[in-house]
Amino acid sequence: MASPRLVEWYHAETAPQRHFADPILFWDETLRDGEQMPGVHFSPEEKLSIAEDLSEIGVAVIDAGIPVVSDQEAQAVHRLAHAGLKAKILASARTVPRDIDAVARSGATHIGIFVAASNVHLQYKLKMTAEEVLKAAVSSVQQAKQAGLHVAFVTEDTTRSPFDFIERLYSAVRDAGADRLVVSDTVGVMTPLTFRWFLQEFRRRLHPKDWAVHCHNDFGLATANTLVALEEGVNVPHVCVNGLGERAGNASLEEVAMALESLYGVRAGLKFDRLYALSRKVEELSGVPVAANKALVGYNSFSHEAGIHTHGILAHTLTYEPLQPETLGRQRRMILGKHTGKAAIIEKLKERNRVLNDEQLTHLLHRVKIFGEAHTKHELHQFLGEYRSIYEHPGITDAEFWKIVDSIDPQGRGRAA
Ligand code: MN
Repeated sequence: MASPRLVEWYHAETAPQRHFADPILFWDETLRDGEQMPGVHFSPEEKLSIAEDLSEIGVAVIDAGIPVVSDQEAQAVHRLAHAGLKAKILASARTVPRDIDAVARSGATHIGIFVAASNVHLQYKLKMTAEEVLKAAVSSVQQAKQAGLHVAFVTEDTTRSPFDFIERLYSAVRDAGADRLVVSDTVGVMTPLTFRWFLQEFRRRLHPKDWAVHCHNDFGLATANTLVALEEGVNVPHVCVNGLGERAGNASLEEVAMALESLYGVRAGLKFDRLYALSRKVEELSGVPVAANKALVGYNSFSHEAGIHTHGILAHTLTYEPLQPETLGRQRRMILGKHTGKAAIIEKLKERNRVLNDEQLTHLLHRVKIFGEAHTKHELHQFLGEYRSIYEHPGITDAEFWKIVDSIDPQGRGRAA
């Protein structure tokens, strides 16, 4: 008789509802949307270092930034575009001729042209009519195509826009030569169910062959919504390392890619064992600490302390881990503390070939628990105090800002009466 399977996977049960594209191309936004996170900025060298890793890992497209933002930004895009990376280098532009010129000059082969599509953005931000947006979008796409660029057309706030306008706008830019259509859930208001409906409607109206989604995490649903999009046949997910990005961030590269491969059994084509090192690098260069309980790359995502859990893990890792930490280039950690049980103590003693009798073990366990309860709070509080004082005031300080103002207007003449 065949031995029973250790764990059951229910992939096959949902197979008729899965329409994965092949291949799935990862489009990384860490250097653009990730950098737009408050207080985050990368130097051209830092951007290059992150881009090299992304490219090596197998990310297909890297948004390097928006060249018209600053001279340094234009330099950074130029450097990435000329670094000979395997990944395609994309730069972003508004529907403004000089933005598109700047991308063409940067040497990037790909452009993301973005414009808002929702009424609230048109009325209050752009102060443009739908017809004006349509006209600007079409002429921008034409300009970019004439410059020989691969064009992704992006609307901001797609998921809060009138569908008839979305349909007209995307049809028009596609007729003008846009190669890829990008749907953005800019303020993260989709749920897996509403997004499925939205994308099915998008497909029914536009029959896209090459389409992308850009999901924000305002309700913690960015990864879930991105996975729904992939189930629906979207071939290009936008992601950021560590889920960086505006406000609560974007769908995280590691979550989307690892879920795709481990939970759906779909090849993501990435070097997963390098993701953890990249996560640490981006944590350091962005200055945004990864939450200890962050999925896959948080410090605790492969750590065990509770007695029942460590006992299970020591017997077989599948008991309390859905995947091996080594898959992500990580190691499992057994934490000794208040919740430790005997099995973990016995395992730990093996490191030095020590064997204690039952009575000694009970005593040792008791001491470990007491130690664990007395431990670590002071250091943690110190660390949290520093962390908060830095994090409550990101960006330039008030003092720095007023110093700049005074240097421009030394006598303070420009005062309101
Ligand atoms: Mn965004």
